[in-house]
Amino acid sequence: MSAWLFPPRCLVCAEPGVAGRDLCAACNAGLPWPVASCRRCALPLAVADDDQRCGACRQRDSPLNEVRAAFIYAAPVDGLLRRFKFHQDLAAGRLLAGLMCTRLADVERPVALVPVPLHVSRLRQRGYDQALELARPLSRGLGVPLWHGLQRVRATAPQSELDAAARHRNLRSAFAVQAPVPAHVVLVDDVMTTGATLHAAATTLRSAGVARVDAWVCARVP
Ligand SMILES: [Zn+2]
Ligand SMILES: [Zn+2]
Repeated sequence: MSAWLFPPRCLVCAEPGVAGRDLCAACNAGLPWPVASCRRCALPLAVADDDQRCGACRQRDSPLNEVRAAFIYAAPVDGLLRRFKFHQDLAAGRLLAGLMCTRLADVERPVALVPVPLHVSRLRQRGYDQALELARPLSRGLGVPLWHGLQRVRATAPQSELDAAARHRNLRSAFAVQAPVPAHVVLVDDVMTTGATLHAAATTLRSAGVARVDAWVCARVP
């Protein structure tokens, strides 16, 4: 399949794409980039101060050292993510991964990238793992290897159907780690809402001896 046969076409509005991406210049300019965000949880901040932490993160510990979100969860990224996650639109996933690569090019690199794994039963249902589909092109683009030592050992109820307290209970002992562990990893996932899943994965990794855990997500729900 060559670019000549399939020229890039905007996945949002169907105009011709630019820079070899399935996104037009106008839609690219309208993407919801965060201006400033909390370095601990990627929550968008109204002003960027030296501390770069939101009110909640000033008052609590996190197993995550840093969280970066390429986007705020808003149009048109929210629609692209839904198409990618629930409607097998892998072209939308490739576009989002490419944009994440550009956005995260300057961030400190870890020893390895760790896609937040799906339980095998969910994987069978969906046919692909959205975190892995984002992490693969990031790994290639940024030259950081993937590490597959984090496993989902317990199927959990879909997080979207639960409140915050139930999310934490739901995730207790959901993950397991295989030794030896890298010293510094970045968890990769599509969307961060409360962060309960990322926190559970990070806690498991830290307990297994990983010195530093960060997270990169495509979009942060404000
Ligand atoms: Zn467009
Ligand atoms: Zn925060």
